[in-house]
Amino acid sequence: MTKFVFHTLARSRWLKHLASRYGMRRPTSFARRFIAGETVADAIDAARALEARGMHHTLDLLGENVTTLEAADAATRAYLGVIDTIVQAGIERNISLKLTQLGLDADKACAVDNLRKILERAEPAGFFVRIDMEDSTYTEVTLEVFETLWHHGHRGIGVVLQSELYRSERDLQHLNALGARVRVVKGAYREPKTVAYQHKADVDRAYARMLKTALSGGTYPAIATHDPAMIDLAREWALTHGIGADRFEFQMLYGIRRDLQADLVKAGYRLRIYVPFGREWFPYFMRRLGERPANVLFVLRGVTGERG
Ligand SMILES: Cc1cc2nc3c(=O)[nH]c(=O)nc-3n(C[C@H](O)[C@H](O)[C@H](O)COP(=O)(O)OP(=O)(O)OC[C@H]3O[C@@H](n4cnc5c(N)ncnc54)[C@H](O)[C@@H]3O)c2cc1C
Repeated sequence: MTKFVFHTLARSRWLKHLASRYGMRRPTSFARRFIAGETVADAIDAARALEARGMHHTLDLLGENVTTLEAADAATRAYLGVIDTIVQAGIERNISLKLTQLGLDADKACAVDNLRKILERAEPAGFFVRIDMEDSTYTEVTLEVFETLWHHGHRGIGVVLQSELYRSERDLQHLNALGARVRVVKGAYREPKTVAYQHKADVDRAYARMLKTALSGGTYPAIATHDPAMIDLAREWALTHGIGADRFEFQMLYGIRRDLQADLVKAGYRLRIYVPFGREWFPYFMRRLGERPANVLFVLRGVTGERG
């Protein structure tokens, strides 16, 4: 229900306009809690701060569902620029991106072509490129594109599976057999019951099963969650099955459960923070609100403060 409300609001132009006006203009503005800033320089600053705290990062230039080839081309060029800037900055080389940002809705071949351009620049420079997973209408095509690239020899890439989808456990077995790197998440999108569990307890149970499968049979999986129960389970499973802390990593989102983030690093685990940045931050931001209604109070306090 909450996801439904926020996904509907995410389509509101009026709200987007209002949020864009107030959300990011000062370092203390409300959206800054979850988004590093609107420029690549902001993202580099955030990444450096994370590195200083012993954390890894993946930079995500926000943007999704572009509808024209021109916009897809612009997003691709922007990503190439981000790659060059990361290299110049001398920070860790790891990015995340979405296929609909590269034009999947306009033309699949064009999106694949754009991704290839990005990989041609990124892979020789030692980058790892994670293809984020979008809503379930894109699952099949995303996995297909990933696998095609994999079979063409690209190894600096990884993909994401969502435990809320019934199909994901099967997909995980398949990707484990390939030797591909998988990020396991619960899933950020509102999905119909034809394809996804509708109760959180079922999503959590599937997540628990998937994290065990990923740790035991996967290649350097990423356990991406802020759920303390899942983190404890992953730690315990790894310990009891002799899986060293160098064979997997935890991942969390920028600005979420910073207490847990610090605890994991202190305990000697690898932690990667997903650092979103860019002008197209509104849909990402609304997904984060939908996950936790308490965030709305946090935002409202921020807005009131801005006006004052
Ligand atoms: C690194 C990373 C990459 C991701 N990539 C994708 C992707 O490609 N595709 C996709 O569909 N989803 C992605 N997600 C989002 C994911 O699917 C979930 O929507 C999100 O992580 C919340 O689920 P959770 O596992 O933290 O568990 P939950 O059970 O939802 O939350 C557990 C606890 O975490 C805290 N928490 C969770 N969300 C928030 C929030 N928004 N604000 C404040 N506190 C919060 C709360 O304390 C909550 O009790 C990604 C998540 C991470 C961490």
